Amino acid sequence: MDVSVVLFTADLRLYDHPPLRAALEGPRQVVPLFVRDRGVADAGFAAPNRLAFLADCLRDLDTGLRERGGRLVVRSGDVVEEVCAVVAEADADEVHMAADASAYARSRERRLRRALEAEGRRLHVHEAVTTVVPPGEVTPASSDHFAVFTPYFRQWSRQRPREVLGAPRSVPVPPGIGSEELPSRASLPGISPGLAEGGEAAGRKRLAAWLRSGLATYADRHDDLAGDATSRLSPHLHFGTLSPVELVHRARRADGPGAEAFVRQIAWRDFHRQVLAARPGAAAADYRTRHDRWRSERTARDDIEAWREGRTGWPVIDAAMRQLRHEGWMHNRARLLTASFLAKTLYVDWRVGARHFLEWLVDGDLANNQMNWQWIAGTGTDTRPNRVLNPLIQAKRYDPDGAYVRRWVPELREVAGAAAHEPWKLAGPDRGRAAAYPEPIVDLADGLARFRRARSRG
Ligand code: FAD
Repeated sequence: MDVSVVLFTADLRLYDHPPLRAALEGPRQVVPLFVRDRGVADAGFAAPNRLAFLADCLRDLDTGLRERGGRLVVRSGDVVEEVCAVVAEADADEVHMAADASAYARSRERRLRRALEAEGRRLHVHEAVTTVVPPGEVTPASSDHFAVFTPYFRQWSRQRPREVLGAPRSVPVPPGIGSEELPSRASLPGISPGLAEGGEAAGRKRLAAWLRSGLATYADRHDDLAGDATSRLSPHLHFGTLSPVELVHRARRADGPGAEAFVRQIAWRDFHRQVLAARPGAAAADYRTRHDRWRSERTARDDIEAWREGRTGWPVIDAAMRQLRHEGWMHNRARLLTASFLAKTLYVDWRVGARHFLEWLVDGDLANNQMNWQWIAGTGTDTRPNRVLNPLIQAKRYDPDGAYVRRWVPELREVAGAAAHEPWKLAGPDRGRAAAYPEPIVDLADGLARFRRARSRG
């Protein structure tokens, strides 16, 4: 029987998986393969929280395959060498995989294609697996990508996503292909105690709950910090345990303002991917320079440490930074506030913050993270590069009762209501109860003036 290898990368699922479905066409056996890619670790993307989530994903994928008569083959090393080794062992004539946007993924694809073709084998790369609309599929007349979201979204919304595929009933795997033991999160150090569970089964459970009881109110509630009313599907989208195409179809079927707002966020994900695919350098360099001469890791060491550890003396910032460490995740509004605080109020290089986020975020994703950081720093695709978010005004708007702050900052747990946002104003016994909380490391007006001076020099 003919054999295909399916290389799983950022698409760790069985539902709506075009490469697997294509590989199973005809009387074929399939080797489902995941390579713990040395290149990804060397590039610094192997953070503990993501490794733990990945371990869950691989175990769950293996379970799903075994229920269908197959199993997952796991190897470690150079991805191209490992795929070629498995192809040779299984005497496979083709490899199927999903397209991906990053420079690393594209170079992996090119290397793999060359190596396979040299052996007379074929590589099939499938689009619309990790995105809804593939990068480059919609473009403006005058450029290879959209630099502004609104016109991108207009065109994106006119595309008709492909139909959703079911999971295969059976996955026949040839015998005798060696596999490493599956990793387990229990053996990994440095993981956030509140880290979510990974894997397609956990993702589908969360998706069902979200469609049942979150989506309808998303438009009104998504910015409510304490309400925690967003989907929390981001790690599942990052690892591909859920399909973005399926999410869009199911949300559209639900209809209403919540569904519309949610689909728009999925489009943001595609938007950042098409920017990075066209400008891979934007992962590390300003997409649009504002001639910033940022304070560096050396000159702003104390401020950066206070920001990382959540002891800036600005309660909403500290709550968010502590949530990040505790859960490996942070609410979008909190990401906006903490990023603006670092890049603008403290005027520290956005890359310092982006690196810290990638160290902790379970959904840490090159396109979404770097391009959102640049958006906030005013060096990206934003249309208001000099806007600075005031953490106090924002805190009172998006955490009016102070509940988010009390949840994550134990020093302020006894302070009632919105007073938790301004501990320096507390008097009497309240002040005593908040005594362990630090003084603000920066005056907001001073930070704003420094930022404006710096930008006007540019
Ligand atoms: P929901 O509000 O439920 O949105 C649904 C999905 O839409 C998300 O899961 C995500 O895939 C996508 N989405 C939502 N907002 C955005 C956005 N602004 N840009 C791109 N896609 C979006 N998201 C990541 O997935 N990985 C990151 O590394 C990341 N880093 C960020 C860094 C900064 C400084 C900022 C401001 C945002 C970052 N985001 C990142 C985007 C966003 O904050 C998260 O996707 C969102 O908070 C995840 O929570 P959720 O799944 O509940 O989102």
